[in-house]
Amino acid sequence: MMKRSLFLKVFGGYLLIVISLAAFFLFFTFQSTQNFYHTTLSHHLENLGTTLKGEIKPLLEKENLAQLDSFVKNLGNQINTRITVIDVQGKVLADSEENPQLMENHKFRPEILRALEGYTGQTLRFSKTLQEKMLYIGLPLKENGEIKGVLRLSLFVKDINRLFFNLRTEIAWIAGIILILSLVGAFFLSRNLIRPIHKLTSASRRLAEGDYKTKVFLKNRDNLKELADSFNNMADRIHYSFAQISYQKEKLNGIVSSIQDGLVTMDQEGKIIHQNKRFREIVQSTEIKDKHYWELIREPGFGRMMTRVRKEHTEISEEITLNNRIYLCKATFLKSWNEIMVTFHDITQIRNVEQIKKDFVVNVSHELRTPLTAIKGYVETLEEEADEKNRYYFNIIKKHTDRLINIVNDLLSLSELEEKEIEMETKKINIRDLIDNVVKIYNHKVSKKDIQVKNQIKPEFPPVKGDAFRLEQLFLNLMDNAVKYTEKGQISFQAYQKNNQAYIQIQDSGIGIPSQALSRIFERFYVVDKSRSRKMGGTGLGLSIVKHIVRLHNGDITVKSTPGEGTQFTVSLPFSS
Ligand code: ADP
Repeated sequence: MMKRSLFLKVFGGYLLIVISLAAFFLFFTFQSTQNFYHTTLSHHLENLGTTLKGEIKPLLEKENLAQLDSFVKNLGNQINTRITVIDVQGKVLADSEENPQLMENHKFRPEILRALEGYTGQTLRFSKTLQEKMLYIGLPLKENGEIKGVLRLSLFVKDINRLFFNLRTEIAWIAGIILILSLVGAFFLSRNLIRPIHKLTSASRRLAEGDYKTKVFLKNRDNLKELADSFNNMADRIHYSFAQISYQKEKLNGIVSSIQDGLVTMDQEGKIIHQNKRFREIVQSTEIKDKHYWELIREPGFGRMMTRVRKEHTEISEEITLNNRIYLCKATFLKSWNEIMVTFHDITQIRNVEQIKKDFVVNVSHELRTPLTAIKGYVETLEEEADEKNRYYFNIIKKHTDRLINIVNDLLSLSELEEKEIEMETKKINIRDLIDNVVKIYNHKVSKKDIQVKNQIKPEFPPVKGDAFRLEQLFLNLMDNAVKYTEKGQISFQAYQKNNQAYIQIQDSGIGIPSQALSRIFERFYVVDKSRSRKMGGTGLGLSIVKHIVRLHNGDITVKSTPGEGTQFTVSLPFSS
């Protein structure tokens, strides 16, 4: 189809050029030969006239009109030319074709008028007398410089044309042969031009259909040959790139199927596009094609996760339980493809070990608590009865036992707070009263130091929402630290509200915390100065408990401290609505 139309275009172009050239050539050749012919004939007639003048003049002078007429008729017949003699008034004196008496006055014929002025007149016009188109030449007949009459010679145009027609036919024949030859040439030229283009077109079609080994070989060394070479080069490159891509794809498929994690990609609508073997094992299904994720994973948490990823176009990690196993699911939105990719990492084992560790800690703590309380009781009894020296040792034993009891209690508190489903009795809590209570508990300890405690929270400060026991535990821990790490000065409590949240501050003028330790103090068992903490009966668990309680209340805790000047903890809690 394309070959045909391109061929027609090229060949048609040639055809148009050749035909218009031929037409142009014929038109101008005809035109110029015709002109040439007329001019030559005119000259010929003029020469004839000049020769005849000598014969006619004497007859005219003698006014022998009958002789003149027969002379003219005779000669005219012989040379196949019409001869007319006219006097100065335009009266026809003799004519080779007609009877001069019957002819009208010729004075106003253009060639006669011209001759009467003394020049050679020439016209090509219709003869009224003969009813034919004729070529006329009028020559003045002069006698001593005076015009005596006009000699007119004329030829039938049809005679001229007959001759001319023969010539024209010959020219047309030659032109026709040249035209045919050019067309044959144009045909082959167009075909040769189109053939390589056709070869290139069909090769590109084959290439597009996936035949990467296709090649084009052209014989001629021209621009098209260059194009064919580039085409072959391009085909080679495409072939190579495709091989590379399929190799990469195979490699990637190999990696994806061999990884231990489940992997799945899905489109915006949640329809699964790719998945690996592990994923099929996780969802316990092999019929995955064209399914949506909710047909395979019915866990509502997973659905919520997908909705969020789709809406926020972010990356989310969450723990999801499927068929009694726990997975760390990481969902990523792939922007360039508008797809979601999810990996499933099995953490059941890790969670089990963690649970075993937790259970172990809780069991050990429980088992230790009773003997430790018993030891403490007996030591206190023995201490009362002991002498000065032994009392010193009993005191040391008592201190260490206290520390152990503290650790055991803190560990039990932490384990309890870390439980997933923890019971919380939330109600409206007046912070000022709660802090008053905490301060009261520490009255005894505070009185031994040079410290002033101020509760600056107003009684009308709006109540917060929380579990009374746990919030007390929180502020007891913070107060405990403040008292432990402050020798003199003051400890003050303040509260303010911002962004619909309650902020409760405890500020001391103690030893402070070095800036490099600030980010770590909420970690379990982290203490800044081990020996000091131990001496104070610290466990390194207090602030972990605080952090847990704050989180359970959907709040937050921040710390600011300047070593040597004091520390400020700020707890934010939601108001009770
Ligand atoms: P500890 O039982 O040792 O007090 P915490 O978890 O309560 O353990 O605190 C961790 C560490 O943070 C403490 O060892 C102490 O060095 C530091 N710290 C906590 N509160 C204060 C405070 N108010 N002033 C100075 N240091 C503090």
